[in-house]
Amino acid sequence: AKQSGRNNFQFYRQELNTASVSRMVLEAGLRNAVDRQEFLLHYQPQMCLKRDKLIGVEALVRWMHPERGMVSPGEFIPLAEETGLVVPMGQWALVTACNQAVAWRNAGFPPIRVAVNLSGIQFKLPDFVDMVTRVVRMTGIEPACLELELTESIAMGDVEETLAKLKTLADLGVKLAIDDFGTGFSSLSYLKRFPIHTLKIDQSFVRPCTENSEEAAIVRSFVGLAHSLNLSVIAEGVETEAQREFLRGEACDEIQGYFYSRPLSSDALTDFLRAERDA
Ligand code: C2E
Ligand code: CA
Ligand code: CA
Ligand code: CA
Repeated sequence: AKQSGRNNFQFYRQELNTASVSRMVLEAGLRNAVDRQEFLLHYQPQMCLKRDKLIGVEALVRWMHPERGMVSPGEFIPLAEETGLVVPMGQWALVTACNQAVAWRNAGFPPIRVAVNLSGIQFKLPDFVDMVTRVVRMTGIEPACLELELTESIAMGDVEETLAKLKTLADLGVKLAIDDFGTGFSSLSYLKRFPIHTLKIDQSFVRPCTENSEEAAIVRSFVGLAHSLNLSVIAEGVETEAQREFLRGEACDEIQGYFYSRPLSSDALTDFLRAERDA
């Protein structure tokens, strides 16, 4: 154990020394990644607890780096946000996810809602709403089949401006979800003012909910809060049957997590849909 401890230390030192270099290399690669078509989307199923069936998917970006292989979004999204590259990347993700939803519909599957992650940086742009409107028209997606995942950080900007943007999007017919709910902004007053449809309870509350009575109480209160505001609620990071049954007992509407399925390539998700249809 001592030996591996020392190896870890050396590894860590080396990582520190190369951190800024690797950041620059990563940034240079990120600049060309959209043009070189190195991004792809994986889709993680979201399951309706009442009907025990797939109701939507969350689109999650993957970067196939030519030398490094798959780079996780945890590594490059922060860099993409700092450099503004999250704007073209995010637009690519929105278009791709909408096209995929239309393709599944055209292949004869029942309508599937696709949820797309949006950075606060994108949301703040003056033409954000126009961009979404154009993508909806251009791809022909049924607006109700598109869900935009926003974080609580949008509540920290200019409230009137945020409200106006959200209202235009809601009028367009797209669904709005608050991602990572419970981890961010402390005031909840925005919940009743903003025209949102869904709360996504963060994994950090869901994971311990069957072992820890405090997290259980938090999850219970989030579900109650959502329902009392007429919002739908989805729990993220559901990994066990016990967690699913707890959430079912709390009348949570939907779940997402490894227990039901990991994020899948579009082909694998098509197989998943086929298997569900033929079951
Ligand atoms: P997120 O939006 O909170 O997405 C959920 C993350 O949890 C995903 O990680 C997913 O693979 C992972 N996950 C889902 N179920 C489970 C589970 O049961 N157990 C565990 N341990 N993990 C689970 P991923 O794909 O690595 O994405 C990480 C983050 O990167 C996302 O967190 C999101 O904030 C960001 N991201 C991903 N795609 C995009 C995108 O297109 N645009 C933007 N702006 N951000 C994105
Ligand atoms: Ca998300
Ligand atoms: Ca989340
Ligand atoms: Ca997260």
